[in-house]
Amino acid sequence: MGIINDVNSLEPMTAMKCNQFIRECVKEGINVVINETLREEITHLIYFIQGALADIKSKNPNIYNELNALRKKHKFWDISETEANKRVTWTLNSLHFTGKAFDAAPLNNKGQVDWNPSDETKKKMAECAVRVGLYPGLNFGDWPHFENRG
Ligand SMILES: [Zn+2]
Repeated sequence: MGIINDVNSLEPMTAMKCNQFIRECVKEGINVVINETLREEITHLIYFIQGALADIKSKNPNIYNELNALRKKHKFWDISETEANKRVTWTLNSLHFTGKAFDAAPLNNKGQVDWNPSDETKKKMAECAVRVGLYPGLNFGDWPHFENRG
């Protein structure tokens, strides 16, 4: 329940490539943190409804509170209306379900997750992924996402 970020929850070959990816990033001077690995379908559905709520608000002004109640029940943090309106996934068939995808982001020099890295950093991370046989989500506009299509 909630967000799983344990590399060992990944399918074994993907876990191996994930660890190689982390090492390749270090070689490039990028310290990455693995934010999410295996994902339960309920977690994905909670993500999926983000970005779809603005249309509903005219019929249900309480929709954001309902979303946060659902998120709290499943051990997610509270999100603002702005964040709730931002679409974060475009599929209901994710490789995260089978442990063949993970999300990673660089750390800044304060050791915090940097959700707005430079294009150069995103590109370097994608190159590190390709080197170890992973497919980078950057290719379809989802830079923190990496998947094992093999
Ligand atoms: Zn992902």
